[in-house]
Amino acid sequence: MAGSLTLRVITPARIAFDQTVESVRVPGADGDLGILPRHANMVAALDTGLMRYRVGGKEQVLYVSGGFCEVRDSTVRVVTEAGERPDEIDEERARSAERRARERLSQGRVQEGEPLDILRAEASLRRALMRLRAREFRSE
Ligand code: ATP
Repeated sequence: MAGSLTLRVITPARIAFDQTVESVRVPGADGDLGILPRHANMVAALDTGLMRYRVGGKEQVLYVSGGFCEVRDSTVRVVTEAGERPDEIDEERARSAERRARERLSQGRVQEGEPLDILRAEASLRRALMRLRAREFRSE
């Protein structure tokens, strides 16, 4: 169907993405949400994961770190802590973050207690794993 969407990804540091696209799929807190032109207006909470968008019939990915998504008048605004294209992701940094998180998790479980630290380590591990997954899409 004719029509397009503007996709804008805003982080505290920058506008990570601002482009016309054909469709978007965001990692909603309750599952993936597909958005096509003329989608009804909505807001949704996002999970940390991969956002997919289509340009020229080709699917691309962008890592997003939670936040929320608003669809209004064929513009999709994503407000998130971090938004990164695969080629912007530092793989070594993500691997170190993964290692640190796994170490904290194994120590936390042994000592039990510090539930907040465990939740933080789990969130950190998810960010690292999702970045590594997004990184796999850097060249096709
Ligand atoms: P780290 O422990 O390596 O800082 P993190 O998950 O705690 O990882 P975030 O809080 O999600 O990092 O992001 C902080 C800033 O660093 C953001 O601007 C984000 O884009 C950037 N960043 C974090 N990890 C990476 C990475 N592996 N590659 C590129 N940029 C990254």
